[in-house]
Amino acid sequence: MGLIVQKFGGSSVANAERVMNVARIVTDTYKQGNDVIVVVSAQGDTTDDLIAKANEINPNAHKREMDQLLTAGEQISISLLAMAIEKLGFPVISLLGWQAGFNTNSIYTQARIKNIKPNRLQAEIAKHNIVVVAGFQGINRYDDLTTLGRGGSDTSAVAIAAALKADRCQIFTDVEGVYTADPRKVDNAKKLKEITYDEMLELATLGAQVLNNRSVEMAKKYGVELEVLSSLNPKPGTIVKEAAKMEKMLIRGVTKDKDVALVSILNLQDTPGIAFKIFSRLSAKNINVDIILQSFGRDGTKDIVFTVNKENGPLAVELLEDMLDGCRIVCNTEVAKVSIVGAGMESHPGTASKMFEALYESNINIQMISTSEIKISVIIDAEDADRAVSAVHRKFIPED
Ligand code: ASP
Ligand code: MG
Repeated sequence: MGLIVQKFGGSSVANAERVMNVARIVTDTYKQGNDVIVVVSAQGDTTDDLIAKANEINPNAHKREMDQLLTAGEQISISLLAMAIEKLGFPVISLLGWQAGFNTNSIYTQARIKNIKPNRLQAEIAKHNIVVVAGFQGINRYDDLTTLGRGGSDTSAVAIAAALKADRCQIFTDVEGVYTADPRKVDNAKKLKEITYDEMLELATLGAQVLNNRSVEMAKKYGVELEVLSSLNPKPGTIVKEAAKMEKMLIRGVTKDKDVALVSILNLQDTPGIAFKIFSRLSAKNINVDIILQSFGRDGTKDIVFTVNKENGPLAVELLEDMLDGCRIVCNTEVAKVSIVGAGMESHPGTASKMFEALYESNINIQMISTSEIKISVIIDAEDADRAVSAVHRKFIPED
């Protein structure tokens, strides 16, 4: 018995049948003697559809009006879910973000939660109501509605779990947990029993889209243990928690990211301050640089190669061509980043070479390498990406 926060994503409440399915999961939890707070996202593609409707009328609409519009998506799903729970004969109340006490800053469409005023939530729990809360939204100090950025409902759920010191925070989605690789692409991909916050953050950034990044950061900060599981097939999923509480695994997962462009600046004048000039120009335009490689100088020139998001490649080239004379700048968008993530590699020499061996055996050429304490990434040709993931996965994750 305890307080359980359950979050259901858009696909879990996409239609009437799925809403009834969620109502059953929630009421089963309640029947076992728990207090339950449920956070839901907008049904299916509702948020995308609302954005498309706005764009048809005014693609440059004020972001305040965008938030007025987008908060409507979650308003639909909370009321429908409350009706479903009522139909099953349980006491329930739905609350919008502001009614549930979500105070945010005023950055419309990307707001941050400042605090949750818990009085209303606590009062409803004291009355033994199941409380259904609209995810992804809050209110600012001008009493205007705000949204938390795409995928923000995960963060709403974690924030409630942290504010009310919930005993468990379950994130229900359409996959059964976090896997060692994309199970649709890699035969032997395994569901992980557990993963650390840091590993989850790396996997999320690298393209495994199970949990929203900000929600994992918040869970780590407040020590909220998360469970990721499927609403369609509810069995134990993956627990995301502190490293100290679990066994270190050499490799927790293999990912690929095709949203990469490789920009090369060749025959650059080798003068002090040139790297500073280049990267400050890019950062002034909000272009985020990932991996950077600089060659040794020769004959007064050198090469600098770096990666950015694919969409930023052409802009980066344009900015640098305006600024640098006499060198060649090329952008290659046919590349991918393949990475391994695992907290155990810190203390295991030879992890990198094992990864490179797998690539070599598959005859895949590595263009760039970057490492951190819990991650090794390589940049390779995009067409080799799937083969690379499988080969590396096979090397590290034993076949059953
Ligand atoms: N409905 C919002 C979105 O689609 C929030 C969420 O799904 O978490 O981004
Ligand atoms: Mg959604």
